Amino acid sequence: MNQKIVYDFTKFTTTDYIRHLSCVIWFKGCNFRCQYCYNDDIVYCKEGNYSINEILVFLKSRIGMLDAVVLSGGEATLYDLTDICRKIKEFGFKIKLDTNGTNLKLIKKLISQKLIDYMAIDFKSPKYKYENIVGVKKYDDFIKTIKYLINIDFDFELRSTINSSLLDEKDINSMINTISSLGYKNTYYLQNFIETTSNIGNISKQRDINKEKIISEKLNVHWRN
Ligand code: SF4
Repeated sequence: MNQKIVYDFTKFTTTDYIRHLSCVIWFKGCNFRCQYCYNDDIVYCKEGNYSINEILVFLKSRIGMLDAVVLSGGEATLYDLTDICRKIKEFGFKIKLDTNGTNLKLIKKLISQKLIDYMAIDFKSPKYKYENIVGVKKYDDFIKTIKYLINIDFDFELRSTINSSLLDEKDINSMINTISSLGYKNTYYLQNFIETTSNIGNISKQRDINKEKIISEKLNVHWRN
């Protein structure tokens, strides 16, 4: 709990966990290297700025002011979140986990101990592009996780970041077909790539996706920006 594994924290947000007043804990490091990632400072960070104990002191001071905590990153599931989540629950907060969905073992553990309430999982790309876009062979792990969550009827959302130089209309439709055939019924969120001065793949914004070509009858598809 004294190791500085937190890169930063956002003290207050209404947008990261819908219908909740929450704060966001940004864990350092990631097992992916997504080309479009604009959190490269968090991904490559060696030494964080805050320990969990420091974060818990902050959270304690927010009892009665916030109602939820978002665990994000980087990739929060690089760390065993069990004790952290238990402490957060003792304070009375709900917990949302943002993840790339590759640590099913930890996710199962957290769910079985009722330590998370909601998850947002990144669906990076179809299988045929996955390794190229994220830099590692983890597609099958991601699929195992969402199959598990669908089977136990856990409340979660899938979301994808779209840069047309990486994903086009055909790819997005392939992803919609994949998750709808697995039985995913919640809203599928699409968010446009945000151009920054630094991202891992040094890519820039490309043409707009033609939204009329995106399949809409199989799932509720919602563009966030
Ligand atoms: S976008 Fe990719 S590389 Fe960046 S933090 Fe998320 S999973 Fe890691």
